[in-house]
Amino acid sequence: MPLLLPRSVFLCALLLSLTTAAPAQSLSPTAARDLAVLATAYPGAMAAIEVDAASRATVVLVDGTRLPYDDGRRKSPEELLDAPDLEDTLAEPYPLGPVTAEPAPGFSPGRRRVEPLLLALYGRDKAAVTANCRAVPFLGQSMAFNTRYGAADAFVRVEKRLARLLAADRSLSRFLLPASGGVVWRVIAGTDRLSVHAFAAAVDVSPKGNPYWRDLPPGTNMLTRRQGFPVAVVEAFEAEGFIWGGKWSEFDLMHFEYRPELTLLARLARGERLPLAEISGLLRPSR
Ligand SMILES: [Zn+2]
Repeated sequence: MPLLLPRSVFLCALLLSLTTAAPAQSLSPTAARDLAVLATAYPGAMAAIEVDAASRATVVLVDGTRLPYDDGRRKSPEELLDAPDLEDTLAEPYPLGPVTAEPAPGFSPGRRRVEPLLLALYGRDKAAVTANCRAVPFLGQSMAFNTRYGAADAFVRVEKRLARLLAADRSLSRFLLPASGGVVWRVIAGTDRLSVHAFAAAVDVSPKGNPYWRDLPPGTNMLTRRQGFPVAVVEAFEAEGFIWGGKWSEFDLMHFEYRPELTLLARLARGERLPLAEISGLLRPSR
């Protein structure tokens, strides 16, 4: 029956388009962009994106973790840190490059993190995270870094950029060394939230030379301290998908963490044409 094969292929294609096209069209442009950015940042992490009749999207990760894109709740500033949804984590635009002004109080792009996403990406406990790490050289030191979703590879590329900067200007070493990283399974002081250091996807450079805002004397000019940190170092990290705690209103000058979704969004916002992952094949109507 020579005609049957083409017709069945056609019917399959029609069925596929009926089951996938409707949700693709119903995602808002912001949701579609954010989800494509997340799929690009963590390639292969998403198994599906379920979209219900009201256009609400739920990301299903390959390990079965389900994450609402927008949980529909209005949140206080504290709740945005304690239990953000994916949309919340991308809502504060991370500014690339030099710090030009003191951030508005509370503006801390990247401090909102979806902990179930980090657990699924990098490991559910200290043993699992440790098993996902490898030793990475860092300017004469060695540090465990998480290999999942390209994090360790990105860190290696950062180190190469920093080594070139240091070769040209040794005075930068006081901002960088010694650095501390590895698997530090702990919650952020005063919270129940795991630090990104727990997942070995962050590094603190020269903790003694780059104080946390709380440790500075009252009256310190915060903008001067931010701008005193070498922008070439910040840009070396940002070029490889890391964000800097020096851009948070309550700054953490020593802290860099791997958050490629935020640097990707920032590069799109400044007009770069970047190839994003195609998510239409992941869309499913929710049951
Ligand atoms: Zn840190």
